[in-house]
Amino acid sequence: MVITEQKEFDEILHSLEGHERVFLLGCGICATTWSTGGEKEVCEMAARLTEAGKECTGWLVTEEATCDVRTTRLLLKRNKEQVGPADALLVLACGAGVQTVASLADAPVYPALNTLFLARLQNLSVCDERCRLCGACILADTAAICPITLCPKGLMNGPCGGYEDGKCEVDRERDCAWVAIYERMETLGQQKRFTVIHEPKDWRADRHPGFVNKRAQR
Ligand code: SF4
Ligand code: SF4
Repeated sequence: MVITEQKEFDEILHSLEGHERVFLLGCGICATTWSTGGEKEVCEMAARLTEAGKECTGWLVTEEATCDVRTTRLLLKRNKEQVGPADALLVLACGAGVQTVASLADAPVYPALNTLFLARLQNLSVCDERCRLCGACILADTAAICPITLCPKGLMNGPCGGYEDGKCEVDRERDCAWVAIYERMETLGQQKRFTVIHEPKDWRADRHPGFVNKRAQR
């Protein structure tokens, strides 16, 4: 899941300077689950903007992810009577969602959220980053624990000399990723795999901007 946080309201107001009529748009998937851009947060934002003197022409929360061009385009069309009069759109979704809306809207589009990371959701209050989207997954060699993400140094072989009692030298509150990898391999009876020396990571697969056309690949 993509984790987001709401921006400071002053920053949002600053973005909207010069705009009087605002249409709000939330995301029905990640931002709803993480309570940063679902119906409740969109309505609260609309109320705060109204209090600050803006006119909210309307709002919607996409049923699918806001970053899905197909459904977001359809929803903007269906709500054109409220979207049309707005001189700005405020989007409570991740950066991909904001840019999706911007590619479909005539008016300027502004983000209400900061996009933080791709996470494992432990519950509705706790999540942790699990993947840095490196483009060449090495989880097969690391007992399905990602050192690129979980080791602050991104070491391909570890642990480094700084670990202590299974904790990371960068943050003693956190488990050392490589100790966790060893312990998981031990549990799985795969300790031998731990002695394999991994080559330096090939970062060429970490290409941005990413682009895939599955039809062209067939
Ligand atoms: S190795 Fe790369 S793709 Fe695999 S989990 Fe880690 S960051 Fe993500
Ligand atoms: S202690 Fe472990 S997690 Fe921390 S930097 Fe060293 S190898 Fe990485």
